[in-house]
Amino acid sequence: MRPRTPLLIATVAAVTVALVPAQAAAAPAAPAEAPTAAPTATSATPGFVAPLNLDLARAHLDAADRARLDAITATLPADWQERLARFRAELGIEPSPVEQAVARAIDPSQYECQPTAFSDYTSTLLADVDLGTLLTLLILGVLDYPTYDALLFGTARDKDYGIPHQYKTPVTQTVRKSQKFWDVDLSDVQTLAMRNDMLADHARMARVIGVLFPADTPEDSASTATILMDMIRTAPGLDGGRNPIFTLNAFAFTAEGETDPIFQGLPDKVIFGEGLGVALGELGLGGTGAKAVVAHEMAHQVQFEQGYFDSPLTGPEATRRTELMADAFGTYFVAHKRGFGFTGESLRTATQAFYEVGDCSFTSNGHHGTPNQRRAASEWGADQATTRPPFPVWPSDTLYAAFERQLPTFLLPDAAQAPAA
Ligand SMILES: [Zn+2]
Repeated sequence: MRPRTPLLIATVAAVTVALVPAQAAAAPAAPAEAPTAAPTATSATPGFVAPLNLDLARAHLDAADRARLDAITATLPADWQERLARFRAELGIEPSPVEQAVARAIDPSQYECQPTAFSDYTSTLLADVDLGTLLTLLILGVLDYPTYDALLFGTARDKDYGIPHQYKTPVTQTVRKSQKFWDVDLSDVQTLAMRNDMLADHARMARVIGVLFPADTPEDSASTATILMDMIRTAPGLDGGRNPIFTLNAFAFTAEGETDPIFQGLPDKVIFGEGLGVALGELGLGGTGAKAVVAHEMAHQVQFEQGYFDSPLTGPEATRRTELMADAFGTYFVAHKRGFGFTGESLRTATQAFYEVGDCSFTSNGHHGTPNQRRAASEWGADQATTRPPFPVWPSDTLYAAFERQLPTFLLPDAAQAPAA
């Protein structure tokens, strides 16, 4: 089956649009100009879910949207777009509009890429949001403000960043057990949540805006925050900022190797999104799914420590490799007797969680792997933990070497595997 090209989304999280307002107004804006080359990311902030991919050919700003955007950007420094792009790039959240043709090595027609319950759920979250509002939020990077806030200012002790009550136990248990499980020092990882009420907190909104656009005066940051908050509060479908779309992801963060003073000195973090928790509940994956998510993020922390991000690959293929690796490592952990020892239904729920967040954004730098590939990597990780007695925990380097040997198998075209008709 050919991948579906949904109007709005493949999947969600950190968003990647690089349009100047004039281009946005001159709709349809496709294909958007390729954004200026982003600097190489030094730190990395891989999310659990691939970035939102918008079909910008269908999006445009009408006169009212445009006026609103002009009012906001009037108080921003002249280079605000470059700043936003640079900030994203430093976090490994790169500007990669869907039109950007990267990795042509991937032939989408060779892969099954079906919508999942998660991608359908994501579509419903955006169904009542008008495209002009959404595009404005994207252009200004607003969907990522709760992420930036948690990354830059969140601490494990601050209740503003507390894990939602129903996920507190599974999330913190997974972090603690992972810290004991892996043969690398993860003891300094802080666990916190990004929460939607950040969008209704004027001081926090202004603080993030002030970091993104520091040429601003504090008064300008405050007035930008006021306009954006007003928009979020009143726009149909955003639920006054409660819409899970704003926090529908989880992240692992390290400032290791970071040279930008904004990030230097920040501790390693795992950030669990309130909206992702809502989605896991809606999909019936609940606390078990949350354990799988956090196990994946802790696997990214292992990758940071061990240098597993290094490879000759670039673009979507590089991201897909490290994401499938985190799926495999995370499931190895939850299935292993020294981890959670998941079997049967709980193991199926964990592998399902990875399947659900697979994406069809083959050409996006944020491509995490198709649903089938993510489930295959996850099931392989479980097999390594359970079918090879005895059960000492493998050194991470051993599991890594085994994964690298296995990776090409996960990537075989579905078309090649399908039985002859
Ligand atoms: Zn990830």
